[in-house]
Amino acid sequence: MSEILQINNLKKYFPVAGGTLHAVDDVSFTMNYGETLGVVGESGCGKSTLGKTILRLTNPTAGQIIFEGEDITFIDNKQFTALRPKMQMIFQDPLSSLNPRMSVSQQIAEPLRIYKVYQNKEDMEKRVLELMDTVGLARRYADTYPHELDGGRRQRIGVARALALNPKLIVCDEPVSALDVLIQAQILNLLQDLQKEHGLSYMFITHDLSVVKHISDNICVMYLGQIIEQCETKELFENTLHPYAKALLSAIPVPSLKHRREKILLKGELASPINPKNACRFAPRCLYAKEDCFESTPELVDVGGNHMVACHYVKEINGL
Ligand code: SF4
Repeated sequence: MSEILQINNLKKYFPVAGGTLHAVDDVSFTMNYGETLGVVGESGCGKSTLGKTILRLTNPTAGQIIFEGEDITFIDNKQFTALRPKMQMIFQDPLSSLNPRMSVSQQIAEPLRIYKVYQNKEDMEKRVLELMDTVGLARRYADTYPHELDGGRRQRIGVARALALNPKLIVCDEPVSALDVLIQAQILNLLQDLQKEHGLSYMFITHDLSVVKHISDNICVMYLGQIIEQCETKELFENTLHPYAKALLSAIPVPSLKHRREKILLKGELASPINPKNACRFAPRCLYAKEDCFESTPELVDVGGNHMVACHYVKEINGL
């Protein structure tokens, strides 16, 4: 079996004042073992809700989540507790995701303690120190507290906690966006090394396409709760097809003048994700929008070579 995760028509809606917020709306994709899937989009596009729904930190509204061949969409908490070690999360802000009153070693030991992995203290302490070595956190920090460490070291604690129970899938939710550029590169390298060593699969959520460019095998671009373009990472950067993804890519700074693209500035109102109409959600900001874009939702379809795009006029716009 090569697929670790299969997501079919997943929906996560929230009741809000004035209607229903469609945070994740009919999302489908598959992920293979050992793969990194980048999920990108502006803040509020539903990418974090998607990650949390897959990890059942919030219950799905509809659809299907199949993990290692098992339908886990609506399994109860008891069943999911048994599965939790295999599916972990690394959070954006390590400071707020760590307990300020627990030392580094206590934070890393917590999942091992909860899951009663070790019967004696010595074995657990040994494993905590091994995990610190694995994530490049010097053992001298074992008795320090999160506020005494810089952002990079705090995120290494988050990575060690996520690894503690030997997971297969890790959802990384903007794991480097709170860090400065140098530390970002260190954490990304660490995640890549760990992936090779432990055969991990990552779902890497970010607003920053340049971050996922070098570490993702495939990318999904999300807009207002839906995937609007999905393909191999190389293909997305060489042959961007959806008007929104083109705008997103044009905003990435390019160091060489020769390869500099013209920045596409998006104008127009953002459509509302509350009670969305049957229309292309990007239509109010799209340079190519025509009448029927406001009257029917484009399906995500394969335009060739597993390059999926949701746009009524993708062929016309790109001369395909
Ligand atoms: Fe633009 Fe219409 Fe395509 Fe939506 S469907 S991206 S509005 S051209």
